[in-house]
Amino acid sequence: MQKKQKKILVVDDSRVVRSMVKRAIATCSEIHAELIMTESYAQTETIIQQHDFHVAVLDVTLPDAQNGEVIDLLIAQNVPVVVLTGGINQASKNVILQKDIVEYITKSNPQSLNYIVTSVKRILHNYDSYVLVVDDSKLVRSKTRKNLEKLHINVIEAESGQEAIHILQDSKEYIPLVVTDYEMPDMNGMELTMELRQSYSKDRLAIIALSSSEDSKIATEFLRHGANDFIKKAYTTEEFAVRINVNLELIDLFRQGKETASKDFLTGLYNRRFFFESGVPILEKAKRKKHNLAVAMLDIDFFKKINDTYGHDVGDIAIKEVAVILNKFLRNSDLISRFGGEEFCILMEDISLENVTSKFETIREYFEKNIIKTDQHELGYTVSIGLFYGMSNSLEEMITLSDKALYEAKENGRNRLITQTKIEE
Ligand code: GH3
Ligand code: MG
Ligand code: MG
Ligand code: MG
Repeated sequence: MQKKQKKILVVDDSRVVRSMVKRAIATCSEIHAELIMTESYAQTETIIQQHDFHVAVLDVTLPDAQNGEVIDLLIAQNVPVVVLTGGINQASKNVILQKDIVEYITKSNPQSLNYIVTSVKRILHNYDSYVLVVDDSKLVRSKTRKNLEKLHINVIEAESGQEAIHILQDSKEYIPLVVTDYEMPDMNGMELTMELRQSYSKDRLAIIALSSSEDSKIATEFLRHGANDFIKKAYTTEEFAVRINVNLELIDLFRQGKETASKDFLTGLYNRRFFFESGVPILEKAKRKKHNLAVAMLDIDFFKKINDTYGHDVGDIAIKEVAVILNKFLRNSDLISRFGGEEFCILMEDISLENVTSKFETIREYFEKNIIKTDQHELGYTVSIGLFYGMSNSLEEMITLSDKALYEAKENGRNRLITQTKIEE
C-alpha cells in the first residue's frame, strides 16, 4: 500500500544540533519521512505555510523568539511536538510542561538522541495505527477518542462487546489495540476480554481495560483473564498516553519479529514456511467461495552456470533481480515467496486463467530481454514457469502439479510457461 510521505520538522538555531538530530533520524531504518529543518521562528512561520508536518522537534530558545513561541506556533497547527532544549530554568520548564507537548527532552541527557528517534518513530507510526474503543457510554467513548486523537491515533468505536467482536473480524484495518469499559449491558468488558482471547493472542491484540471501579480486585481479574493493562477512568492525560504508547509499541515489536521470521533474508520475499501458513487460509476461503486459484512455480534456467561463471555474489544479485521483477508485475495481494535456491512460488486469487497465463507469459518475456548490470559484468538469464490453475484439495497438491508443469517446461527446452489446469464444473 502506498502511503503518503510523512514530514518531520526540526527547528534549532545550532547547526551542530540540527546535524546530530538529522543523522540520528536518518540512521533509523524504520523512519521513512522527509526531514525539513529551520533555524529561526521567522523561517518556521514560512515553512509551515508550505508543508503539512506530522511531527516537530523544537528548540525552546531561538534568536528571534526566546520563550518557546515556536512551540505554540506548531501546537496551533495541530502538529505533535517533541521539545528538545538545553539548560533552562525551572520556571520556564514548568511553563513548557503546561503546554500540550508529547515529550520533553534535555540536550544534556546522553540518551537524548535515542529518545528523539523513539518518540518520532512512535508518533509517525500512530498515524497508521487503529485503536478500537468499546464503551456503552457515548460520552466516555468521545473522551477516550479525544485523548487518542491527541496522540494522532485513528479511532474506531463500538458500543457493545458484540459490536467490537464483529468489527475486529471484519475490519479492513489492522487493529492492534482494544480499550474496553468494564460495566456494559449484555457483555461486560471482562467477558469481552475472555471471548477475544479465544481468537487473538496477547502478542497480536493488546487489550486495555478502563474502569471507574475503585475495586482493585477488578484490575487483577482483568489481567488474569487476558487484559494487557488496566487504567482507572480518573487517569491523567500523561498516564493515558504512556500506557497506550507502550502497549502499541509492544504489539509492533512482536509484529516485527514475526515479519522477520516470515521473510527470506536475501530477497525480502516471504519464505516457504510463511507461504504455507498464509496459503492454507486462502485455499479454505477459495473453496468456500468456489473460486479458482493459481499457483506458479518459477525457476531460473541454468543458474549453476551463472554461479560458475561470475561467482556466488553475482548469483545472489541474479536471485534478487527475480524479486524485483515479480514485485513489479504482480499485485500486492499476490503471495510471492522464495521456496529455496533459485526457485520461487506464487499464489494468486481472484484472477482468470486467461489473465494469469498472459501475466506469466509477460514475465517470462521480460526476463528473456532483461540485462543485469553489475560493476564488472552484464548478464541475462531466462526462467521456466510451471503454472497450476483451478481448485484442489490441498495446497501441497497444487504445488506438486505446478512443479510437474515446471519440470515439463525444463524438459521441453526451458524459457517457457507450461500450464496445468484442474477446473471443476
Ligand atoms: P535448471 O535450468 O535445470 O534449473 O538448472 P540450474 O542450474 O538452474 O539448477 P540447479 O538446481 O542444478 O542449480 C541451482 C544452483 O543454485 C545450485 C546452488 O548452488 C545454487 N544456489 C542455491 N541457493 C543459492 C543462493 O542463495 N545464492 C547463489 N548464488 N546460488 C545459490
Ligand atoms: Mg459503562
Ligand atoms: Mg534452475
Ligand atoms: Mg532449481
